[in-house]
Amino acid sequence: MRNRFAKIVATVGPASSAPDTTRLLHDVGVDAFRLNFSHGSHDDHAKAIKNIRNISKETGNAISIIADMQGPKLRVGEFPGGGIDLQYGDKVSLILATNTDQPNTIPVNHPELFKALEAGHRLKFDDGKLQVTILSNDGKTISANIDVPGRLSNKKGINVIGAVLPMSAMTDKDKTDMAFALKQDVDFIALSFVQTPKDVIDARKIIRDKAGIIVKIEKPSAVEQLDEILEHADAAMVARGDLGVELALEQVPVVQREIIRKGRALGKPVIVATHMLESMIDSPTPTRAEASDVATAIYLGTDAVMLSAETAVGRHPATAVAIMDRIISAAENDTEFLDYFQNRRMRHDATSEDAISHSVRGIAEILGCRAVMAHTLTGSTAQRMSRERPSCRIIGLTPLTSTANRLALSWGVKPIVTSDPASFDEMLKDIQVLARERLNLSPGDRVIISAGIPFGRPGTTDTLKIATID
Ligand code: PEP
Repeated sequence: MRNRFAKIVATVGPASSAPDTTRLLHDVGVDAFRLNFSHGSHDDHAKAIKNIRNISKETGNAISIIADMQGPKLRVGEFPGGGIDLQYGDKVSLILATNTDQPNTIPVNHPELFKALEAGHRLKFDDGKLQVTILSNDGKTISANIDVPGRLSNKKGINVIGAVLPMSAMTDKDKTDMAFALKQDVDFIALSFVQTPKDVIDARKIIRDKAGIIVKIEKPSAVEQLDEILEHADAAMVARGDLGVELALEQVPVVQREIIRKGRALGKPVIVATHMLESMIDSPTPTRAEASDVATAIYLGTDAVMLSAETAVGRHPATAVAIMDRIISAAENDTEFLDYFQNRRMRHDATSEDAISHSVRGIAEILGCRAVMAHTLTGSTAQRMSRERPSCRIIGLTPLTSTANRLALSWGVKPIVTSDPASFDEMLKDIQVLARERLNLSPGDRVIISAGIPFGRPGTTDTLKIATID
């Protein structure tokens, strides 16, 4: 069992898709894998999913799989050598194409740009690392001046500054990718560039309960309607790459804190993403600032932290995960770590589930309980306990693999697939075996058990029992 509460999400890519490497990443700390549908073929993703499910079978550990949709993200096309170097002060042309071998030319397959861009508008590439200013647009060729130089690689993202492009929230590619991902039984679909609650409601009509919905918060309009958007979602991602380009940079930490706070209040997992250990794409160690950034997200109470290019294309994918694991553990071992959560009051619903979840925190603290065993069908009870941020591990016991996989993303939850006991007495016996065999607990350790009796009906959590391991 992992020795930490917060979870690690890693993006699968060429640097990590070999079965042995994916397994190593899980062994050193990955709880959820993200498949980035902006890259790779369906065949690549199908192989990665099969591979991850095999790891779950081999280890007995639930692992979340997140299918991250490209969304209406503008991207450059492809260059013969994989990229071009943009030199400061040079001119560059943009043409409507998927690829080109013309020098100083960027292919972009987005007709909207040729309709909307005017002189003075700016384009940022690769999460804002490069920038050009538009000089002219004749509808076929856009000419631009390079303001911020650097290497522009295949398929890097484009952000338009100064113009609003009319674009639908879900592209045809997203619909095809989503249908594929749902058929592959992924656990979460991440929606990119969500702007309104309607974007989530529309996606829900397709996804229904086949997967959880993660809203990626990366547009100013999503930040403005955060409450309503979170209400319709199952989880959220602080997508700092695009957020930091679309919003003033100094707003990123402010918005990050707000999303974590609101996600926790609703009992919906939050993932902090992008640039967490960015320098480890090349370097074997992170910068001090990166270590501090991961720790800050943990102190704020995020459910999960995510690695993107570090594990997808980086040179040290497993080391990046191992270092992230160490940073999280160190922050969580800080004596003041749990105090922060206790000092933040939350609204409780008048349900037995919330009453029990709230009590669990106090009981665990007073009795020094090692774990709370939460019998859960939909995952809701374990989720409500997770938002309390108790001092002990939450063991999400569920007969449903899909519930277990989703819970792998939630703070402090160790999901275990197990059949529902037939009676209260059988439950007590099962817990004893589980505690010794799966959780490494010792005689005399105390645990809390929550259940809805009779078992197997959602929304019936009404029983709390304190037990001692024999
Ligand atoms: C982000 O923008 O931070 C993000 C996670 O999305 P993507 O990697 O798809 O751009």
